[in-house]
Amino acid sequence: MIKEDCIFCKIANGQIPSNSIYEDDDFNVILDVSPASRGHALIVPKVHYDNAYGMDETFAAKVFPLAVKMAKAMKKALDCDGINILQNNEEAAGQTVFHFHTHLIPRYKDDEVDVTWKQHASVAEEQIAITKQIKEEL
Ligand code: 5GP
Ligand code: ZN
Repeated sequence: MIKEDCIFCKIANGQIPSNSIYEDDDFNVILDVSPASRGHALIVPKVHYDNAYGMDETFAAKVFPLAVKMAKAMKKALDCDGINILQNNEEAAGQTVFHFHTHLIPRYKDDEVDVTWKQHASVAEEQIAITKQIKEEL
C-alpha cells in the first residue's frame, strides 16, 4: 500500500527523483539527502509501513539480505572502514521519516558520526523480570 503525502512512498516509487543505487520490485535504495557520511544510503520499501511493528514478517525477511548485498558493494565501492546498518522506530528512537527505512552508514576511521550510547550496569533480578515480560509477548 502506498500512503498519500508520504515522501518516501513517492521517492521509492520514482514519483520524486532520487539518487537510486539499487532498485527491485520491493525496494529502492537511495542516497540520503543529508548524509551522516560519504555514501550514506537508505533501503526504502516501495510499500508503506510506518515502522517495523506493522511489517509483514515475510516482507521484513527481505530487508536484511538486501542490506548485506548493499553493504558488500558499498564496502568495495567506497573503500570505507566499516558500515553501520541501523533502523529507527518512532520519534523516541530517532525516527524522523515515518515510512520504514534502513540506514546503511559507511564509516571511516576518525569520522565524526555518532551512533554510540552510554552503557549502564545491569541488575540481575531486573534482567530476569525483563526476560520474562518480553517472552510472554511472543
Ligand atoms: P530517520 O531519522 O527517520 O531514521 O531517517 C530519515 C533519513 O531520511 C534522514 O537521514 C534524512 O536525511 C533522510 N531524508 C529525509 N528526507 C529525505 C529526502 O527527501 N530524500 C532523501 N534521499 N533522504 C531524505
Ligand atoms: Zn510511505
